[in-house]
Amino acid sequence: MRWDAKVALEEHVLLPPLAPPGSAGPPSLHPQYAKELQQRLPDWTQRLEEMDRWGVQMMVLSTTNPGVQGIPDRAQADEVARRLNDELAEFVGHRPDRFQAFAALPLQDPAAAVKEFERALNELGFKGAMINGFSNVGDERTAQYLDEPPVWEFWERAAALDAPIYLHPREPLITQRRIYEGYAGLVGSTWGFGLETSTHCLRLMMSGLFDRFPNLRIIVGHLGEGLPFVLPRVDHRLRHAHESVRGKQTRPLMDYLRENFYITTSGTWRTPAFLNTLLEVGAERVLFSMDYPFENMHEQSEWFEALPLSDADKHKIAAANAKSLLRLD
Ligand code: ZN
Repeated sequence: MRWDAKVALEEHVLLPPLAPPGSAGPPSLHPQYAKELQQRLPDWTQRLEEMDRWGVQMMVLSTTNPGVQGIPDRAQADEVARRLNDELAEFVGHRPDRFQAFAALPLQDPAAAVKEFERALNELGFKGAMINGFSNVGDERTAQYLDEPPVWEFWERAAALDAPIYLHPREPLITQRRIYEGYAGLVGSTWGFGLETSTHCLRLMMSGLFDRFPNLRIIVGHLGEGLPFVLPRVDHRLRHAHESVRGKQTRPLMDYLRENFYITTSGTWRTPAFLNTLLEVGAERVLFSMDYPFENMHEQSEWFEALPLSDADKHKIAAANAKSLLRLD
């Protein structure tokens, strides 16, 4: 059976307020790959052709990382977020039956992020938000993580708005890269992305955020950034940790992964890792995604078609879970 109506949630576009990936700092991408990205990121006609060819009915679009999170100036971050979301809405407007969007939010200023989230949901019709990890505040050496007290004002409102947040990777803070010295190829999507994002998820869980706001829903890509595999050991070892460092959470961390998180297949087509994820969190919590155009639609789609799963589970993962989570018609 061919799955022709897939919904994909981690699909990126490049819009004028942001620079292309790899355009600043030392080269991190192969020049040919960087050239292809620059051509494919803003294009919507080629995107639609490929979606038709590979059975993708709907893409939920977002901007590239670090996006607004990488703008240290609060006022500028707020202004760029609003411009980006307007541009995103325009992109969606080409084919609203095939494109939807996640908002960019200026978490440097949680009150401004709340305002922009409300505007994006209520006025632009967006389906949630995508946050690219920590936000630089003041300068590029300073980070504000999402579990930290100033951001709880945002979470309180996000819980009331009942819209999911996609936590997307970014590179680790520039002052915390000693371990990568001599191995610059590991800083980004090869390895550093996953470590940064999985640790950020642990911070959210151990801050007690999900005990305070139990209906918060976080989406993470790349098969959960390793969490389904490593989290049982974290829980096990935390039992032996001194009480003062065990965290504020009231339950095992795996409970939060199963109840507050959704996991997408973006950028991964490794069946054993997928099956581990499925066994840990269940078919209701896993969603198809690709990470286009950083990945190719055909690789992700062909892998999904061939997965040894029941039709009932494939139906959930291909589209049904996304439709109910994002309230898509
Ligand atoms: Zn991505």
